[in-house]
Amino acid sequence: MKKKITIAIDGHSSCGKSTMAKDLARAIGYIYVDSGAMYRCCTLFALQHGIIADDGSIDEAEFERRMPEIQVSFRLNEETGRPDTYLNGVCVESEIRTMEVSSHVSPVAALPFVRAAMTAQQQAMGREGGIVMDGRDIGTAVFPDAELKIFVTASDEIRAQRRYDELIAKGEEADFDEVLANLRERDRIDSTREVAPLRQADDAIVLDNSHITIPEQNQWLLDRFEEKTQALSSTTSK
Ligand code: C5P
Repeated sequence: MKKKITIAIDGHSSCGKSTMAKDLARAIGYIYVDSGAMYRCCTLFALQHGIIADDGSIDEAEFERRMPEIQVSFRLNEETGRPDTYLNGVCVESEIRTMEVSSHVSPVAALPFVRAAMTAQQQAMGREGGIVMDGRDIGTAVFPDAELKIFVTASDEIRAQRRYDELIAKGEEADFDEVLANLRERDRIDSTREVAPLRQADDAIVLDNSHITIPEQNQWLLDRFEEKTQALSSTTSK
């Protein structure tokens, strides 16, 4: 049997990383983990417990004290065939995707104690390999030894349009300019934070998916996976 590898998919906000990561995981029978959902859960917890004030300021001491209370897990939704996110046993899949959470998540994700806790949970989930994880720092900080690393990007406007369409399709109110400003601001904070900033790993393969379809993107990724597993099995059989 072929060894199951670790696949890290990083990139800018709303560039379709999770769609491609989920589809690949399903096609090859690997576990999929959406690390962004974990930072979104931390943000939702902080909003629910008054740790983030109305002006956006964060009570860091209180947050750090309560971090051990945050447990994130994923369970397969039989209807959608995709994993839903659970915060302390409660399904929060739609609550974590709102604009309110999106507008507070990057400052939360920049806090070193939040990153330390989530990184530890992510590394525990990936200990056995056979995992596809998407995020910002998976190939650089969480799994620097991942066998396959992909860095995805697309133009700002195209990314904002995709996110806007997604929110509208879910029946949420959305304003295109607000969505565009939010993703630019998240990219700025994610790329400039001190701990594990968003950056392309030196050994990542870059995909700009501005002008390709989802089936084309899925095929491209599957090809990279097959290339990598074949290369690894030919070096181990030598
Ligand atoms: O992937 P998604 O857009 O849902 O992630 C939400 C936010 O979580 C990002 O904007 C980023 O601030 C943070 N994040 C992170 N590191 C990851 C994944 C997400 O800092 N590995």
